[in-house]
Amino acid sequence: MSPLPLASWDLWASMQPAFMQGALNTSGLMAGGDGVECTKCGRHYKLKSSLRNHQKWECGKEPQFQCPYCNYRAKQKMHVARHIERMHREKLEMLELSERASLTVKEDKEVPQNEVAQ
Ligand SMILES: [Zn+2]
Ligand SMILES: [Zn+2]
Repeated sequence: MSPLPLASWDLWASMQPAFMQGALNTSGLMAGGDGVECTKCGRHYKLKSSLRNHQKWECGKEPQFQCPYCNYRAKQKMHVARHIERMHREKLEMLELSERASLTVKEDKEVPQNEVAQ
């Protein structure tokens, strides 16, 4: 009945995969369901997709979606849409479909450059 010498424990621990070591010292670096944090501004989000959305449209950015009826601007198209529904409902009802279409903001896509030097 001799307990393992400490050296053996160290050896054992060093052989464990990284995720095991992370579990051993609860550093909290691993997203354990408590959400994710924006590394730029420190905002917390429950979902990674929300964080990505935030970083794509909000973080460090000027509001780029403008309400066509007033000075309201928002960082997310959805917010403007919701604003219009609430504040300009009567105009919305009068809207032609074509005008509705103009509300959709073009997303900047990266154009692949297929120039081949000859
Ligand atoms: Zn941020
Ligand atoms: Zn408005």
